[in-house]
Amino acid sequence: MEGVEQITIEVDLDGAVERLSRAVQFPTISNQDRNDFDTKAFDDYHAFLAEAYPKVHASLKREVLGDPRPYSLLYTWEGKNPDLPPALFYAHQDVVPVPEDSLDQWDQEPFSGTVADGYIWGRGVLDDKNQIHGILEAAEMKLEEGWQPERTLYFVFGQDEEVGGPEGARYVADVLEQRGIERFAFVMDESAPLIPGVLPGIPDNTALIGIAQKGYISLELAMHGVGGHSSQPPEETNIGILAKAITKLEAAQFPYRIHEAVRHQYRYMGPELEESRQPMFAAVAFGKEGEMTDLEKEFIAEMATNQVTRAMLHTTIAVTMFNAGIKDNVLPPAATAVVNFRPMPGDTPDVIIDHVRKAIDDDRITITDISASTPATAVADPDGPGYKALEKTIRQIWGNDLIVAPFFVIGGSDSKHFQARAFAPDVYTITGIQLDSMKEFAGFHGVNERIKVDEYGKTIGFFYQIMTNLDDL
Ligand SMILES: [Zn+2]
Repeated sequence: MEGVEQITIEVDLDGAVERLSRAVQFPTISNQDRNDFDTKAFDDYHAFLAEAYPKVHASLKREVLGDPRPYSLLYTWEGKNPDLPPALFYAHQDVVPVPEDSLDQWDQEPFSGTVADGYIWGRGVLDDKNQIHGILEAAEMKLEEGWQPERTLYFVFGQDEEVGGPEGARYVADVLEQRGIERFAFVMDESAPLIPGVLPGIPDNTALIGIAQKGYISLELAMHGVGGHSSQPPEETNIGILAKAITKLEAAQFPYRIHEAVRHQYRYMGPELEESRQPMFAAVAFGKEGEMTDLEKEFIAEMATNQVTRAMLHTTIAVTMFNAGIKDNVLPPAATAVVNFRPMPGDTPDVIIDHVRKAIDDDRITITDISASTPATAVADPDGPGYKALEKTIRQIWGNDLIVAPFFVIGGSDSKHFQARAFAPDVYTITGIQLDSMKEFAGFHGVNERIKVDEYGKTIGFFYQIMTNLDDL
């Protein structure tokens, strides 16, 4: 995209930083144990939002939704022209826990919201409260100016993204679907921030816009047999049987293929990359489903050497839990393991369970779907007006000295609950903040999560400007 001029949006940075710092102090944690849920943290955070953004709360309709626990927020900003298809901004309130044994590695208390050395620190400041607050700061500024959007804008702030969004995002998507919204013109949610070197092998500053997300399913593999005394073990123990099954499953990887979103990615990025490799990237960019040229095979072989890029090529298999035994001289009567899969399109739960059953080839092991599984999503249009408005806004705020490209998201966030439905195919995912390096990105779920104060100002400007640009879709 050419000819986009960089602009500066003036924001009340001191006030905004103070509000984000306060936001971090509410420990809106999503624990794996769903009974361990701090309702007070969420209630207090909601009350704080109402106090911090008075104009938003006076002008927009606010609903508190979720099933069975209602802690997700849905704001509706009525457009001047309700006939236009609406747009939706998504972000999540919850944060991952801070493990006790990592506390001493933090330079600042994780829930203190400290502002120091030019950074705002704390759990959730990057993932994902800076996006909630960037959206609300921008809306408050717009309301102050008497601005109203052309199309209706929805803001959805989920409560349980970090555990897959079964109570929040999924329920809000149900509600909006039932209200008869036929199609969103634009949905935006978090994904990768702007970072130099975010894609292995490409050192340039890059803004990746997710256009498709993989699915999610976890299976429990269980071996129930007879336990007993370890002085007289049978030929095969439950642990041994299950371990063999896991080994066989890991050896039976799903085949590699090139997802449509990866082809789109190389249509945009290919020309920016090394010239000698252009033929290979072109083969990927313009390759056809169901055919595999030698150059595409070469590409796959290269991508498969890195675990990040390899995950873009197939349904992944990750053994994440293994439980058996409580004492050194007791044979446990059961052994269980949990395997998490991130499916490509077409790899439905049935296909995956069938694959596992054939791979382990052992009827003694039971297989159970224990997840709120979601399928791989639709692919958003990388040539459509929503994508273009997003790219234009990125270049207006961060300039032209960066690569902007669509990509295939190997993780996934709450918007998958929208993008897996017919009413929201065009979901674009990017976390609208600039990070200095991949090292900074480690704060995502890690220690020393922090963002730069000045960059946060640009985040607010980004949301301010995209709201403007969405008028012209
Ligand atoms: Zn997140």
